[in-house]
Formats: sequence, structure tokens, C-alpha cells
Amino acid sequence: SLNQSLSELNGDINVSFEFFPPSTPEMETLLWNSIQRLEPLNPKFVSVTYGANSGVRDRTHSVIERIQQETELVAAPHLTLVDASDEELLELARHYWNSGIRNIVALRGDLPEGSPKPTRFASDLVRLLRSVADFDISVAAYPEVHPDAANAQADLINLKRKIEAGASRAITQFFFDVESYLRFRDRCVAAGIDVEIVPGILPVGNFNQLKRFAAMTNVSLPGWLHRQFEGLDNDPGTRALVGANVAIDMVKVLSREGVKDFHFYTLNRAELTYAICHTLGVRPGK
Ligand code: FAD
Repeated sequence: SLNQSLSELNGDINVSFEFFPPSTPEMETLLWNSIQRLEPLNPKFVSVTYGANSGVRDRTHSVIERIQQETELVAAPHLTLVDASDEELLELARHYWNSGIRNIVALRGDLPEGSPKPTRFASDLVRLLRSVADFDISVAAYPEVHPDAANAQADLINLKRKIEAGASRAITQFFFDVESYLRFRDRCVAAGIDVEIVPGILPVGNFNQLKRFAAMTNVSLPGWLHRQFEGLDNDPGTRALVGANVAIDMVKVLSREGVKDFHFYTLNRAELTYAICHTLGVRPGK
């Protein structure tokens, strides 16, 4: 029954929130309002992305520092290896450890257009970080397969390498095809990957923007999702309600399938993420 399925949702859920460094004073205000709104939900950590190749690592650092100074949150910088030498990465890792950072999201980063075939991968960054200190490392996983991967099996073996190099969880690319996530999780277990495969949940506020993101990242947008947002191009209020509903349906199914950890791509907004967490039973002070 509905009552039963709703009551089943109040398990021990862990959440984490992802933010990106703001580039204008208005976006900075939005970010800090969102962090304040979400802090009482007691996330396991909050992460801050780093724009590979953008030359603005400093922006990530300053958000991380302010989170450390002004909140009780555990701050996890994203770190990419494409645009830094091993020496630079080692120095940064030592700096992070000495300034109290214990959690890092370790990524390769996207290659600039026309780059030669890469020779360093995220697994190398995980190994490098673990050579510096006992960081808690998260890595990326792709239920619908990373666009550069030779095939799904090679991509899965790459994830296994990252875990064996010392990562303690995988966070997935966002997805809307829940079945593909569940099948991927089963394949991870079968491959001997024994860490949480944390679903990355993207609450959708802007469907047209999502279409561009999804095309770049090999993420499928099922027909039902297109139909949900049909006719709402000029109606952001309804889009937000529909977007929350879509994500709430997804997390309910995932929760029933035993998922306990959720990572939210907040896009620096609190509202949808807060509502979705609320329905999962994640409440202030709990
Ligand atoms: P890897 O794990 O290194 O994999 C990259 C590709 O190489 C895969 O196709 C893999 O199968 C393949 N591969 C691995 N090893 C080998 C090998 N030995 N030989 C041949 N092929 C191999 N990007 C940013 O710039 N900044 C961010 O802050 C950021 N945050 C992210 C957070 C999450 C949760 C996710 C899912 C992605 C994020 N990204 C970010 C995007 C990410 O950087 C890109 O998807 C990037 O293209 C791959 O990074 P990776 O860490 O998954 O790479």
C-alpha cells in the first residue's frame, strides 16, 4: 500500500551535496544561502567541483576554506589531474591535508578538444593521494558508460582499479533510467567492487539545459522524462514542482532497492534538494 511504501522510506539515509564555485556576487549569495539552508540536514560531506582546464582552482579552494571556517560541514574538494603535474598534485594534497581536509573527490577531468590520448587516469590520482595521506577518496562511476571508454566492461574494470588504488566510494554520473543504475550496481558487485555505488541525483529545474548536459555525458533521457517537461519552457514554477516530483519518485525506488547513500548535484540551489531529502526522512538535526 502507499502508506506502507512511504513509511518504509525512513531508514538510515546518508546524503552528500555538491556545489560549484560561484563566478558572480549574485551566485555567491545564492551558494551561501543554499549551504546555510542545507547544513542542518547534516550531510556526510559537501563537495565543491573544480573546473578542469579553467585555471580557477583558487575558486574551489576559497569556497572550501570558507565552508571549513563558517560551518560544521565536512568539506571535500574535487581534484582533477588533467591539467596538473604529479609534483603540483602532491603539493596540493599535502596542503589540503595540512589544512584539515580529509575527503577528496578524485577525477581525471575532461580533456580539452583535440588532446592526444591520455596516459594518466583517475586511478593514478587516487594512488598519488594515498601516497601522501589517508584521505577518504570518492571517485566517479558511469552507469551508462563513460563516453571515452572502449566498452562497458573496460569502464567497470577502470572503476575497480580506482577502488583498488584506495578510493572508498563511487559517486555516479547523474541518470534518470533507474534500471540502468540498478543493473550497474549488480555488475559492480559481480566484479568484486565492494564499496557503495552512491547514486548522483540531479534535481531538474531546467530541462533544456539538461538536454545539453546529457548529450555531452552519454546520459539517456527517457521518453517519460521528455513528456514530463513538455510545454513548460516558459513556466519555471511548474518545472520546479515537476522536477522535484521526478527526483522524489527516483529516490523512493532507489531507497526501496536498498540504497542508503545519496549524492545531490545541487547546482547551488537548496529548494529541490531540501524537499527530496525531506521525503527520504532526512530532517534537520537528525
Ligand atoms: P577516469 O576514471 O580516469 O576514466 C576516464 C576514461 O578513461 C574512462 O572512459 C575510462 O574507462 C578510461 N580509462 C581509464 N583507465 C584507462 C586505461 N588505462 N586505458 C584506457 N582507458 C582508460 N570534471 C571536472 O572537471 N571537475 C569536477 O569537479 C568534476 N566532478 C565530477 C563529479 C562526479 C561525481 C562525476 C561523475 C564526474 C565529475 N567530473 C568533473 C567529470 C569527469 O572529470 C569526466 O567525466 C572525465 O572525463 C572522466 O573523469 P574520471 O575521473 O571518471 O576518469
